[in-house]
Amino acid sequence: MSVQMSGMWAEVLEKVKTWARINSPWILHYNSGSCNGCDIEIVATITPRYDLERFGIKLQGSPRHADVLICTGPVTLQSRDRLKRIYEQMPDPKFVVAVGSCATSSGAFPGCYNVVGHVDEVIPVNAYIPGCPPRPEAIIDGIVKLLTSLQPPAPATAETHDAQSPAQAAAEAATNEGESA
Ligand code: SF4
Repeated sequence: MSVQMSGMWAEVLEKVKTWARINSPWILHYNSGSCNGCDIEIVATITPRYDLERFGIKLQGSPRHADVLICTGPVTLQSRDRLKRIYEQMPDPKFVVAVGSCATSSGAFPGCYNVVGHVDEVIPVNAYIPGCPPRPEAIIDGIVKLLTSLQPPAPATAETHDAQSPAQAAAEAATNEGESA
């Protein structure tokens, strides 16, 4: 196979991998010290009320199979090393979403004797979702914005303007449901 052909196949393979990653992200949920308020909202987000699995967003039990780590709460001394270990076990490319005021800015717990700080003081964070706790619509919106940022820029044609990814459809559906509730 010529060098040109192998380069072309590598490019196609990369495009397929990016497409799969955006349309079927597997998420891992970790509570690094949350009061459980944010966790309840995350659980609500994956229940049939919002049903993220329809759109390929699936909750995973193992960091080795996860693309996105969703972290709630301030990072406590007890959970700091576990959070680092979980992050290191995830395959590249990996992404972290900090959910709630505690995860994004330590919330009500800065300076607490057993709190290290917010999540990005321990591991890199790609998206921040503020709120105490944030509603499921906000969580979906944050994840969709993260996934949209991974999308390679598309050529500006009438077709691509009309195209909507499953993740964008999920966010729109969740927002519509929230408004009608
Ligand atoms: S942001 Fe609010 S609901 Fe979430 S863990 Fe902190 S105190 Fe609890």
